[in-house]
Amino acid sequence: MFRTAIMKKYITVRFHSRTDPGRVRPGNEDAFLADGEAGLFAVADGMGGHAAGEVASRLAIEALPGLHEAGPARPDTPADGRKWLASLVARANRAVYEAARSNPDQRGMGTTLTVLYIRPPVACFAHVGDSRLYRFRDGRLQQLTRDHTWVQEQVDAGLLSPSQAQVHPHRSMLTRAIGIAEDVAVDSGDVDVEPGDVFLLASDGLSSMLSDEEIAGVLARDGALDAMANALIEAANARGGYDNITVVLVRAE
Ligand code: CA
Repeated sequence: MFRTAIMKKYITVRFHSRTDPGRVRPGNEDAFLADGEAGLFAVADGMGGHAAGEVASRLAIEALPGLHEAGPARPDTPADGRKWLASLVARANRAVYEAARSNPDQRGMGTTLTVLYIRPPVACFAHVGDSRLYRFRDGRLQQLTRDHTWVQEQVDAGLLSPSQAQVHPHRSMLTRAIGIAEDVAVDSGDVDVEPGDVFLLASDGLSSMLSDEEIAGVLARDGALDAMANALIEAANARGGYDNITVVLVRAE
């Protein structure tokens, strides 16, 4: 799946998205949204037996407003943007939860969901799970989201180092996911946007295969977005590609 487009605002935003099943999994349980006109980007990484993971991530993405959906006016302030995104994530949670409850084959399915709303000079984000949002600026990669995982809790408690967490056998164990309960706590944040910033949304099929330094090394090439997306996926596959890999790159220019 490929999409490239240009969005005109005060700052131009270009984006490119790509998902890849990796080298081991028979299917792809990741899903994404890249809507340049709306400034809305998202990654979801589903889980559940009988291909229910694919259903969960698709439902979560479909719960987000589409390009032509009439809806409430877009928020103007960062605080409104965060609230708006958190309400979208809550809506996605209800959609997946209701589907899981009413379909025995899909019982227990869930998904991560990380959403970015970029309206330069501000970007807002909201998330549940371990799909990450990074900002790359001046050669430095900053993880803006905090994983809702057991290993992250251990890191926060000082019981594991970040590098131990990166390779821990339980690194994929989530402490929060979309669709598991009727309500879910949603984290949100906002940052400023400057020309040259690159935002990266990624499923853990990327971040569990590559270190932040390796991801930064690819983004530092400062090439075309499609070439950088391909390079990230090729690097994750070269490491083994044990999981589905999704990358959404958004560059302010
Ligand atoms: Ca995954």
